Amino acid sequence: MTKNNTRFDYIIVGGGTAGCVLAAKLSVDPSVTVLLIEAGKSDSHPLIHVPAGFAKLTAGPFQWGYISQPQKNAMNRKIPLAQGRVLGGGGSINAQVYTRGAPDDYDRWVSEYGCNGWDSETMLKYFKMAEDNERLSGKYHSYGGPLGVSDLANPHELTKAFVQSGQEMGLPYNSDFNGESQFGVGYYQTTTRNGKRCSAAVGYLHPALNRKNLVVKTQVTVSRIVIENKVAVGVSVISGKSTNTYSATREIIVAAGAFGSPKLMQLSGIGDPLDLQSAGIKIESELKGVGKNLQDHCDLDIIYSINKKISMDRMDSVSPFTANAGIEYLLYKRGPLASTVVEGGMFSYSDKKEKTPDLQFHFLPAAGVEAGVAATEKGLGVTLNVYFLRPRSRGTVRIASSDPRVAPLIDPNYLSEDCDLEATIEGLRQMREVMSQPAISKYITKEHLAKGATLNSKDSYVKFVRENGRTSYHPVGTCAMGSHEESVVSPELKVHGIGNLRIADSSIMPEIVSSNTQAATIAIAERAADLILSGD
Ligand SMILES: Cc1cc2nc3c(=O)[nH]c(=O)nc-3n(C[C@H](O)[C@H](O)[C@H](O)COP(=O)(O)OP(=O)(O)OC[C@H]3O[C@@H](n4cnc5c(N)ncnc54)[C@H](O)[C@@H]3O)c2cc1C
Repeated sequence: MTKNNTRFDYIIVGGGTAGCVLAAKLSVDPSVTVLLIEAGKSDSHPLIHVPAGFAKLTAGPFQWGYISQPQKNAMNRKIPLAQGRVLGGGGSINAQVYTRGAPDDYDRWVSEYGCNGWDSETMLKYFKMAEDNERLSGKYHSYGGPLGVSDLANPHELTKAFVQSGQEMGLPYNSDFNGESQFGVGYYQTTTRNGKRCSAAVGYLHPALNRKNLVVKTQVTVSRIVIENKVAVGVSVISGKSTNTYSATREIIVAAGAFGSPKLMQLSGIGDPLDLQSAGIKIESELKGVGKNLQDHCDLDIIYSINKKISMDRMDSVSPFTANAGIEYLLYKRGPLASTVVEGGMFSYSDKKEKTPDLQFHFLPAAGVEAGVAATEKGLGVTLNVYFLRPRSRGTVRIASSDPRVAPLIDPNYLSEDCDLEATIEGLRQMREVMSQPAISKYITKEHLAKGATLNSKDSYVKFVRENGRTSYHPVGTCAMGSHEESVVSPELKVHGIGNLRIADSSIMPEIVSSNTQAATIAIAERAADLILSGD
């Protein structure tokens, strides 16, 4: 097979987290040809591979620059929605926090959405199959898989104080958020290996790149799936000013993410007729659920000034991190650059009647790290954030135009359900409680609430949440799997009503998992590859 081939057995659209897993797994058999198409660039930039590079990647050239529609329950704000646009997708720019969600999440996919075969026991098999854990093994963990999972090389002094403070507040110390229980406070394990980021591109795709039967095209955007007689037969692509078509003899697998996958379905005439007609697109297949059921965790941050020059703020400009940090990292793969910055974790309850924790917190020994989150005035601070893990608000993704270069209209519809607001407020209250405990409070000089807010009444909390809620970068659910009316794919991930077409990425989650979403997406792609290869 040459690089100029236009005919492949499998075409995978989107070289993000799921796409990289699929490309590696489907191309194991040398007699099968695979094409992976990614809109963004290759992942060769060094910042992608240094764990602390996360602090530079939530804005800039490796993300799509999406902005939400005005959020009617969040002061009509248009909220930036960073999503990866680079080989490795979100996994090349994310915070590398390794969490899988609660087993109950997957069991609910089966019991409430009819997703047979996606129960927690089956998913645990895929989590373990993927995993190369440097510390844990046994019932919940494994090693030797493609995805490096590591402990923090050297947790920051401030993170240690935060973890002690969680215990002072009464939470148990948890050495494994992916083990017996999520509940408690501790250090996150991260998707890193030997002091470097391990995205699905690094762990799965790079080792497969020398296979002659695998072609990877970057900076190529799929503009449409070509459908003949209700069967997907190829894809049209654009690259700069040129266009091209590739055909697939077996299957096309869409893995363009929770915004990209429904957009591509709609561009291809698969979706709610109302959405398609308003963009002037001919209907190939009526599938009302495409672009519906959008879910994300709505994140709230508080930053604090500290009294010691030790935080990791503005690592590029504040001494002593510049040259020293670089040398320490190059020589030993340690020091601030080896940190993912999002170091400390906590899972707790807003509602004690829940079976598993419904609040998740991230502690960063720095402030001003992510786009849109402020730094303290002196550049010395820490950040704590929280979100409600099982939001009931549901949003939409709709194409704005038949022009594939135009961004879709994305409405996460944050905080449209009162329970989401109430749980988030309880999360904020717990944030302030943990930050007032002795171990961390001895460093804190001031709490900075965005927009000069004060939190002293229910109304002030409500206003704060509506004024400052933002994405946690976990959009899912827009091409939901299931056997219900608004489902888009079957439990085998086949698009209802169209042959030879599957979707396999974060968009197929019928309900968001109770944690960060990368590990779940990798497990989805692992299972998708098994389903495809076994002919299911
Ligand atoms: C800033 C950030 C921080 C995060 N932090 C964490 C974390 O710490 N831990 C965690 O578990 N999760 C985290 N996540 C979430 C996690 O990265 C995602 O859940 C995961 O990457 C989703 O995988 P995916 O394959 O569904 O989509 P993506 O990884 O987004 O991949 C989709 C790919 O498809 C490409 N694409 C889209 N449309 C087209 C098209 N038409 N043609 C060709 N290519 C196309 C995109 O460019 C992209 O590369 C974070 C995400 C972000 C953005």
